[in-house]
Amino acid sequence: MIDQLPPHQREVIAAAQAAQPVRLGDIARAFGISVKASTLPAGISGEIRPSGGAFEIKVNRHDSRGRQRFTVAHELAHFLLHRDQIGSGVSDDALYRSSLSDAREAEANRLAADILMPRESVRAAFAESVGSFEERLQFLADHFGVSEAAMAIRLEQVS
Ligand SMILES: [Zn+2]
Repeated sequence: MIDQLPPHQREVIAAAQAAQPVRLGDIARAFGISVKASTLPAGISGEIRPSGGAFEIKVNRHDSRGRQRFTVAHELAHFLLHRDQIGSGVSDDALYRSSLSDAREAEANRLAADILMPRESVRAAFAESVGSFEERLQFLADHFGVSEAAMAIRLEQVS
C-alpha cells in the first residue's frame, strides 16, 4: 500500500520507520494531525475527524498499547488514503468497521500493517530472534510495539 502513496508521504513514513517501534507520532506531526488517547463510546477503537483546518485522531485509552498503536496507524491510513471521504468524521469499531466501505477498511488495515511492521524489518527481526515460535512472536510484538495477534498475521504475510 505504501507504494501507492506520493513520494513526500513515503519519505515521511520511511523516516519514522528508521527505528522500531515505528515513530507514529512523527508521522502524525508531519501531517499536522493531533493524536489523543480518549474515553470513546463503548465498542469504538478510534476515530479521525477534521479539527481546526487539520485532522484529529482519538484512540480508545482503555485499549492495550499495541492495540492503540494499530488504531492510530489505521486512522493515519484513512487520512493518507481516504482524506476526501472522511467528511465530518469516521469512527471505527473494535473490528475496524465504520461508515466507510469494507474495501476502504481493508485498505486502511493493510497500510497500517505496512507502516507499523515494515516487511524487511520484520524479516530481519525474525531472523535474529531465538527460542520457540511463541517466544519469537512475543519478541517481535514487543520490538514493533504491536499485539501478538497483529504480529502473527504480519509474519504470515511476509514469510
Ligand atoms: Zn477504519
